[in-house]
Amino acid sequence: MELVELYRKITELSQPICAKCVPPFHCCHPVGCGLATVWARRVYGTELEYTSDNAISTLPYLTKTGCTVAPHHRPLCSLWLCPEGEMAAPAEYWELKKEIMEKEIELGDSCRK
Ligand code: SF4
Ligand code: SF4
Repeated sequence: MELVELYRKITELSQPICAKCVPPFHCCHPVGCGLATVWARRVYGTELEYTSDNAISTLPYLTKTGCTVAPHHRPLCSLWLCPEGEMAAPAEYWELKKEIMEKEIELGDSCRK
């Protein structure tokens, strides 16, 4: 499976967990958005646009239903779950996380050669 698809699938599992938080998605932080902006630009040549449904938000990509950035454009966010969230995650979450980490390490290694 390709990285893009792996990130999409892992986010399908974590998004509903974070949506139930009070308030929802409260781990989101401007630093995470900044890292996504840089990753999307540097790795994929994609400029992310402001998509928040709050005109004055410090989180440019977060809406009431979650983040609008493609999961592979925000890898650190896509791979993050708090310990409580991890407890609620199914076994498939861990299998996907392992596969993604292995592929990212492989890609990182090939960049350094
Ligand atoms: S990672 Fe944990 S604390 Fe953060 S939004 Fe998700 S469930 Fe809530
Ligand atoms: S998940 Fe999206 S909104 Fe949340 S910190 Fe990451 S990029 Fe920003």
